[in-house]
Amino acid sequence: MQAESSELLYRFFRTASEYLEGYHRAEPYPETFYPLISQENAVSEAESDASYGFEAITAVYDGIAQCTACALSRTRKNTVAGEGPAELSGLSDAVDVMVIGEAPGADEDRLGHPFVGRAGQLLDKMLEAIQLSRKTNCYITNVVKCRPPHNRDPAPEECAGCADFLQAQIRLIKPKMILSAGRVATQHLLQTTDGIGRLRGRFFDYNGIPLMPIYHPSALLRNENLKRPAWEDLKRFRDRLLQIRKDSE
Ligand code: URA
Repeated sequence: MQAESSELLYRFFRTASEYLEGYHRAEPYPETFYPLISQENAVSEAESDASYGFEAITAVYDGIAQCTACALSRTRKNTVAGEGPAELSGLSDAVDVMVIGEAPGADEDRLGHPFVGRAGQLLDKMLEAIQLSRKTNCYITNVVKCRPPHNRDPAPEECAGCADFLQAQIRLIKPKMILSAGRVATQHLLQTTDGIGRLRGRFFDYNGIPLMPIYHPSALLRNENLKRPAWEDLKRFRDRLLQIRKDSE
């Protein structure tokens, strides 16, 4: 098992690194891994049965496209609602996992799709390593649906201003599990001020949905040392998803 994990880790990061940065690591990663954090937490501030007004995902998308509730609407090129399997329009149960990032950046603003820049390309690789894809079984969105200028962090009021949209997306899409990418998304979702280093890799209960915070892919692009713990987190997440799928058979 240890050897298998080691090989997977090596292949995952070698592929991601080479793909993104023309980088090649000559030696495999060592076979010792960080101990897994087994702590379970029940933290949830959101209400589980709120209706948030929207009856269909298309209505949520229309609401986002027309939203002028905050100043971000004046500087955006496009709203970025979310992206998932084509079947989503029928709201089948195709979506196993919802990934929630913080806000669109320049590429996402230009194209109207979430996570399409360098961080997005790495996110796709990370998801692929645990058999997830926005084309088949994974829905990707952000807490905030418009780009904050100069890629600054979205303000808490901006996160709160988009909260009904996000809650409606979760309620309508019904993911089996949630990955929250990075500090901003995680702090908003869990209503905490704890840092991502403390929260990552642990499971939280989000209205009955298991939620795991992970390092944001842009953090992994900036800091190689975060890749090993990130992979450990993804493996734990994958294992829980496999168990949930098995239990629902
Ligand atoms: N970073 C995010 O958090 N979301 C995106 O859509 C792109 C980059």
